[in-house]
Amino acid sequence: MTLQERLVKYMTENDLPVITTAKLLGIGPTPVTLIKLKNKYTPATAEKIYNALGPDYLEYVEYSVCECCGTKYIPRSTLQKTCENTDCKKKHQAATRKAYFEKVAAGERVVKPHSEWRSRPKKYEPAKPAQSIPEFMSGKSYGERQREYLLGLQKGQRMVVR
Ligand SMILES: [Zn+2]
Repeated sequence: MTLQERLVKYMTENDLPVITTAKLLGIGPTPVTLIKLKNKYTPATAEKIYNALGPDYLEYVEYSVCECCGTKYIPRSTLQKTCENTDCKKKHQAATRKAYFEKVAAGERVVKPHSEWRSRPKKYEPAKPAQSIPEFMSGKSYGERQREYLLGLQKGQRMVVR
């Protein structure tokens, strides 16, 4: 018996519409509809149904095994490859990076790992003027353009010595 058949049977027996079922299970109406029509669901959704409706639904919860420590876990997204443990996440990330750079060194054409796609956030550095205010006040000039500005000349207008 698939989850679709079992859930539809449960809904018809208890005369529950999709919205009420969704509230009962603690998930959105969209995943409920997906199960009802196409029998599509994620392990996390299956776990929520199991938590709400009991041990009959345990067989639909698919656990993944962590590559690093071997514990069972339920992935929260398709990108999650290890358990929730931070050490496992770091190990997996390092291994992925290492494999990527080995392939690059071997001359293979490879797609960047997910951690490489995102650019690192830039550190904020306030814009500094070419010259500090004390330097300017003590007589250093910004250059020709600054001199023109201070003399009230337009850009490109040059002083002509007669
Ligand atoms: Zn782990």
